[in-house]
Amino acid sequence: MPSRAPILITGGAGYIGSHTYVALLEAGFLPVILDNFSRCKPGVLTRLQAITGQPVVCYGGNVSDVVLVQELLRQHKFGAVIHMAGFKSVGESVAHPLSYVENNIGGMTALLRAMETSSCRTLVFSSSATVYGDPPAAPITEDFPRSHTNPYGMTKLACEDLLSAMRAAAPAWRIGVLRYFNPVGAHASGLIGEDPTGTPNNLMPFVAQVAAGQRAYLSVHGVDYDTPDGTGVRDYIHVQDLAQAHVAAVKALLEGEESFTVNVGTGQGHSVLEVTKAFERASGQAIPYRLAPRRPGDVAQYCADCGLAQKLLGWRAKHSLADMCADTWRWQRDNPNGYDA
Ligand code: UDP
Repeated sequence: MPSRAPILITGGAGYIGSHTYVALLEAGFLPVILDNFSRCKPGVLTRLQAITGQPVVCYGGNVSDVVLVQELLRQHKFGAVIHMAGFKSVGESVAHPLSYVENNIGGMTALLRAMETSSCRTLVFSSSATVYGDPPAAPITEDFPRSHTNPYGMTKLACEDLLSAMRAAAPAWRIGVLRYFNPVGAHASGLIGEDPTGTPNNLMPFVAQVAAGQRAYLSVHGVDYDTPDGTGVRDYIHVQDLAQAHVAAVKALLEGEESFTVNVGTGQGHSVLEVTKAFERASGQAIPYRLAPRRPGDVAQYCADCGLAQKLLGWRAKHSLADMCADTWRWQRDNPNGYDA
């Protein structure tokens, strides 16, 4: 299948979806968004149009609506589907496990049902490093044991297993599973970025709001981990690099690559204090912080081995921690309240 193939992005109006939309278009594909806007705002669409200079093709609707997805598949004859529509908050999943099962596993099941009735059997799935549970070592390779410690992780694990079962049942499926590490950053234009609702749970958007003066200080959760400075270490990856990983995954599958599961990170870990210092340099703002107890369920260190993604997809991350901070800061500074609508 040549480039110019139409590609469906479920959850395409979200943080990662919107950046992937731009990257696909730049790579010559014709991305189409399906999103129910339960966790993002329609304002992103005018920003996408401003970046790309082209009208955005977006359907408001639910991936669980099999009839709707069947109709989209029939109408657009997609070369591939990128399935990103899913809830992603660990804390929320602990409070509302059924919603996570319904939305994440139910959404995946419905999508596969719809795809089965079409000729499209090519799928890229947004999985997560959370499937490694509490990893025994770093860097993490794809053959590490998988486990889960919360309902969110359970849904990612279940979806991965469902996809394996689909491949085993019908070899025509070509499925690329991307295990994201910690996506951060924003588009260099400053027009799109992460727009969390309420208090951000994740480190980078929280730090950005402290730098902007919207929050008084950062709580550093845990200073006694077995890491060089005692704070948690993560493999942060620029969302633009992550978007390129989706383009590489789609290309590889359309060019006949077998199904694969790969880590998507940089291979470099950074501690909470390192991120804080890097953000101070990028923003020129002081980031006051206080030492706080560990967050329940947090692990000391997550860092990817990205060799397989490079080997199979010819992809590797290019942006540094300084780039991630600079781009997050530009987005935060220019859009203090995220998307207006
Ligand atoms: N973290 C922190 N303060 C915050 C948010 C996060 O110290 O307000 C720490 C957290 O304990 C972890 C790291 O920052 O060590 C990354 O947390 P995040 O939630 O962004 O990613 P995850 O833990 O899900 O990989």
